[in-house]
Amino acid sequence: MLKAEKRHGLGCRAYDRAHTKCTCPYQAIGMLNGAFVRRSLKTSSYERAVALIRDWETAGAVKEEKPIPIEEAVAAYMRDVGARNVQRDTKQKFHTLIEERLLNFARKRGYPRLKDLNLHAVTEFRITWPDAPATAQKNIERLRNFFRFAMDREWCTSNPASKLNVRVVVQQKDPFSAEEFDRILEATHLYGDGHWRTGQANAGELRALVLVLRFSGLRISDAVKLERTQLIRGAGGDGFGLLVEQQKVRRSVYIPLPDGRDGLPDVVGALLGLPST
Ligand SMILES: [Zn+2]
Repeated sequence: MLKAEKRHGLGCRAYDRAHTKCTCPYQAIGMLNGAFVRRSLKTSSYERAVALIRDWETAGAVKEEKPIPIEEAVAAYMRDVGARNVQRDTKQKFHTLIEERLLNFARKRGYPRLKDLNLHAVTEFRITWPDAPATAQKNIERLRNFFRFAMDREWCTSNPASKLNVRVVVQQKDPFSAEEFDRILEATHLYGDGHWRTGQANAGELRALVLVLRFSGLRISDAVKLERTQLIRGAGGDGFGLLVEQQKVRRSVYIPLPDGRDGLPDVVGALLGLPST
């Protein structure tokens, strides 16, 4: 029969084992399977201590809790991310944060076990991020998700990332004014090729890109990947637009483009005028 008893540390002012209002850990003391046992339970929670003792008594032996190595926890988590139906760039973001940054950080600082990553460690980890505030905020959420995954599997008892401060200032940026946009467009006419010549094909491409960005609202990463086949005639037969696959919602969207009418620039003409390569 085992019982849970407080084992007060040197810094603790309680001398009585019955005193339980400190953070000192419990120990298991008594007979287990015919042998005397006195072993720390490594917890200051009475409920957890009693649960562990019950486990040991059921098993008839002291069950050493082997702390999970960070690498194992990360590998299991990444397998789960891989199995979830998430987008490729989302997976990539988890890979960068958890599999690259976190593992590198743990190796450099000499943290082999997941439980070494306490609030202090994750705070230090966060300081190493080069991210802009909005990205950092997303990454804190990803880190919390990782620790939630670990907590659900009882690899750690708390989520150290939950206390990371997410309050960040995201600066609102004003769009370019009409005047600024005109100057950007004008600059494409001054843009030279490799031989200081203006008015060449590269300048035309740049101008088409600027116009598409302005009038389609596409992100630059999507705009540079547009294919010629995505420029199609509108349903009514009037004018042209871009057929764009929206990754997030997995559906196609038709974005009409101005073609020189109504006092708007000829974006369609700029695109059609590009050399096909
Ligand atoms: Zn104590």
